[in-house]
Amino acid sequence: MEDTSARYVAHHVERMPKSGIRDFFNIVAQMHGAVSLGIGEPDFVTPFGIREAAIRALEKGKTSYTDNRGLKTLRDAISRHVARNHGLEYDPDTEIIVTIGVSEALDTALRAILNPGDKILYHEPCFVSYAPCASLCHALAIGVPTTAADNFALDPVALRHAWQIGCKALLLNFPTNPTGGTASKELLAQIATFAQEKDLFVISDEIYSELTYEGEHTSIAALPNMRERTLYLHGFSKAYAMTGFRVGYACGPASVINAMLKIHQYTIMCASIITQEAALEALLNGRDDMLRMRDKYHERRDLIVRRFNEIGLRCHSPRGTFYAFPDISSSGLDSTSFATRLLHEQKVAIVPGTAFGPSGEGFCRASFSTNYENIINACDRIARFVDSLKNTH
Ligand code: PMP
Repeated sequence: MEDTSARYVAHHVERMPKSGIRDFFNIVAQMHGAVSLGIGEPDFVTPFGIREAAIRALEKGKTSYTDNRGLKTLRDAISRHVARNHGLEYDPDTEIIVTIGVSEALDTALRAILNPGDKILYHEPCFVSYAPCASLCHALAIGVPTTAADNFALDPVALRHAWQIGCKALLLNFPTNPTGGTASKELLAQIATFAQEKDLFVISDEIYSELTYEGEHTSIAALPNMRERTLYLHGFSKAYAMTGFRVGYACGPASVINAMLKIHQYTIMCASIITQEAALEALLNGRDDMLRMRDKYHERRDLIVRRFNEIGLRCHSPRGTFYAFPDISSSGLDSTSFATRLLHEQKVAIVPGTAFGPSGEGFCRASFSTNYENIINACDRIARFVDSLKNTH
């Protein structure tokens, strides 16, 4: 039967590009013998104690809705956790909401603050959802380019340059997917000054904060006079290997959390009680497992960065996340051709940097959330691919 339903699709949704990452995954899934460094999720199974908490919740018959804001026990634990890590006090009754991953927190936050036509600044290359989520609010997302020369740190001068009348908010992500960049306290202080000067609300996606290998992670929310204009987003997917559990949270000033709560009430109701119980266990007893996984990522990072540089693909050492972002421009190919040909000729999946924004051109993202053997195997194949390019030049 012919599908004629396209005419019903809203214009702004029709205009929205599909995520560039998924196309690659679909090819990889059907390719026999492919090695994937494409996926942005931990290869570890969720630690057993956390899985057990979900099993226990089911056994005890915990199958109901929870408070729209999330389980009180979980919000209390989040409040203590954020206070311990950042010295930030959030009231679990009015300033914290539990969401379906950081994905929902981000979407709900943008919908809570953006009027149609508002503008929001974000740094790119970045997580694929930021600009599309803003356009779902009929808002305009303005990308601030970052460069390899700066280790993909957000340059306050570039930020100032990108600012326009109508900018209401600034979306930050440190450590950054896909570049592994982090922000020093000094840099955050400069960004904070700018946000105050321009009266911007800051949404800070800190989902990779535990996976910081160099220096201490600082939240911009903890800087002077920032708590009242910052929404802190975090979740369990990365640090605790809980992507499938779908739990995240937002902490921020009560008026914004309340606005988010209205949207969340009508669209989501609440996160699953089963996975909220598991998230609580992660906060109470998951630290050792989290540190064990982080140490493994750290070892893998050092391996993959060394191998890329040996192959002749210049690669800075990511200070956080589980992504390497090698410069592939010496191959003479653009990012998409490099990743596509590598996939077809050597069956290795990495993601073209342009999937994360125009400033990703010349780079590809290789995830090291996979085991040592896979990384070695993938790097051997990438070396063969790069050699084959030299031979054809
Ligand atoms: N933010 C960033 C920067 C991410 O990389 C991801 C997942 N790749 C998310 C948010 C969404 O995470 P989740 O919804 O699983 O919490």
